[in-house]
Amino acid sequence: MSSSGKPGLSKSLILKGMQCPKALYLAKNPPAFEFPPQPHVEAKFQTGNQVGILAQQLFPGGTEVPFDGLSVTEQIAQTRQLIDAGEQVIYEASFAFEGIFVKVDILVKDGDAWQIHEVKMGTSVKEVNCDDVAIQYYVLTNCGLTISESYLVHINNSYVRQGDIDVQQLFVGEDVTDAAIERQAGLPELIACLRTTLAGSEPDIDIGPHCKDPYECDFIPYCWQHIPKNSIFDLKGRGIKKFDYYHRGIIKFEDLSLDDLHKAQRNQLEATLNQQDSINRVGVKEFLDTLWYPLCHLDFETFDTPIPPFDGTRPYQKIPFQYSLHIQQSVGAEPVHTEYLVEPGNDPRRELAERLLAEIPADACVLTYNQAFEKGVLRNLAELFPDLADALKARVENVRDLMVPFRKRDLYRWQMRGSYSIKVVLPALVPDLSYAGMAVADGMAAMRAYHKMCALDDPLALAGLRRGLLEYCRLDTLAMVRILGALEGVEK
Ligand code: SF4
Repeated sequence: MSSSGKPGLSKSLILKGMQCPKALYLAKNPPAFEFPPQPHVEAKFQTGNQVGILAQQLFPGGTEVPFDGLSVTEQIAQTRQLIDAGEQVIYEASFAFEGIFVKVDILVKDGDAWQIHEVKMGTSVKEVNCDDVAIQYYVLTNCGLTISESYLVHINNSYVRQGDIDVQQLFVGEDVTDAAIERQAGLPELIACLRTTLAGSEPDIDIGPHCKDPYECDFIPYCWQHIPKNSIFDLKGRGIKKFDYYHRGIIKFEDLSLDDLHKAQRNQLEATLNQQDSINRVGVKEFLDTLWYPLCHLDFETFDTPIPPFDGTRPYQKIPFQYSLHIQQSVGAEPVHTEYLVEPGNDPRRELAERLLAEIPADACVLTYNQAFEKGVLRNLAELFPDLADALKARVENVRDLMVPFRKRDLYRWQMRGSYSIKVVLPALVPDLSYAGMAVADGMAAMRAYHKMCALDDPLALAGLRRGLLEYCRLDTLAMVRILGALEGVEK
């Protein structure tokens, strides 16, 4: 309960409640349910903090109201003292009105009034960002401040770093004053409704598109428990309104009419229900005929970040820090493995490009899984290093995509569930190889491990992360070797 006598609400809780009142209720009254860990949430939070701190340089010389070590009441009191003392720029300025607590990323004096600057690590203004600023505007104006302008400060993804970060170029401030003001009239009623929700029992709100819009809700594992395996939501592709079926009680594959589905969905459904595989030998042969030897199975791991780390990089550009190569000299030959993983903190690009060119023969077939990704990385390296460009472009020309026969369903196992991701194709085709139980088991986890490596100096922890990354990337290309072997076996 806040000092106003009303239940305390933060800006983020209101935004949660705007997405779904049940999410707000569950956030305040956590259910007895074991939620899976969400390592990406902590990583996103840390990146957001880094972006927020950097954006403070847009208005240098301000004073920060710290979050840690101060109670909410103390943060509000300190903000008031700074305002009274004539401070021109306050970071994390804290206010509360009727139990609604907000922290303004950057509050800037503008004559007798103030400007709100809300910092986001996205690259454009979204409706939910305007809601966010509107709540701040509501609280601040009700605390007696006059707000002249409100800005949403986001990342400019066309900025290219050269030397030190230029914050004026990295960030774009978009004026969202009108959007914030337009939302004011509806806020008191909305807040009253959310308070009524909190005072009651768990709201009876069914799942729907709102579970993933504008954010993926934290409570999906809890609210979606009743959805069975092989449900309408497991059907791949568009073309049918899944929630319409759900609301009509048509949920399981068995309940669906084939006439309502497009061809790929019909195939997925029939294959799953009948546990039926399918092979188009001509298609598989056509694909295999596009390959030649020596053949290099290639997989990159990349990281991206809103703050470009090196010269010549843009926000969120995918930067390779690791690769694995399995090289086969002929069909079915024992592969030779080689790999690269940068030392944390170093710019990997030149070393990685040179190693790669030394290890992939100019005339070799370069096999990838989802070629757009690997081609994009190679092209970026070619752009960056003109002296290596011709050699890198030659490797791009030689790229072939192992995903093709699975995307075209020339080879389909019913366990693939309509997917052609390597994570699904591998266990369906090669049951003795699996990503299960690995310390790093997908690309996002690899990126998190890399970021962690850059922040650590404990040799034991570093060695563990390094081992996890090498094992994961190695398995990706070993998986390709085995999947290719399975395709070659089919064709015989
Ligand atoms: S999972 Fe969906 S229904 Fe459940 S709380 Fe979240 S948004 Fe609401």
